[in-house]
Amino acid sequence: MYDKNNVFYKIMQNEIPSKKIYEDENVLAFYDINPMYKVHALVISKKLCTDFDDFINSATAKETADFFKSVSKVAEILDVKNSGYRILSNIGENANQIVKHFHVHILGGEKLRD
Ligand code: AMP
Repeated sequence: MYDKNNVFYKIMQNEIPSKKIYEDENVLAFYDINPMYKVHALVISKKLCTDFDDFINSATAKETADFFKSVSKVAEILDVKNSGYRILSNIGENANQIVKHFHVHILGGEKLRD
């Protein structure tokens, strides 16, 4: 079950500050507070979903397409398209998901570890 008591919900509500990169009616992108690479951004859906599976099972086809197009758009804003980048989404315990609000990481800006 989705619990509004999570940091990304509070960022979305502007209750906690973030370094915003992009926002529209469906998504918000901001820099990760603890970057693993030179470029480390997070793209969150404004739908109240706990993780990727929750999102994919509740979003319409258009919402799904719009979300992932926005991820691509944020990668463009971050200027990592030519050099390459990685997107990833942690789901649940074994993946060490910390924040239980669906989000995708964008990693890049340098050679990534395997
Ligand atoms: P995960 O849930 O495992 O995908 O990881 C959550 C990510 O959120 C981590 O990379 C954290 O560094 C990041 N994070 C946690 N709190 C904040 C915050 N207030 N602003 C930006 N990023 C955050």
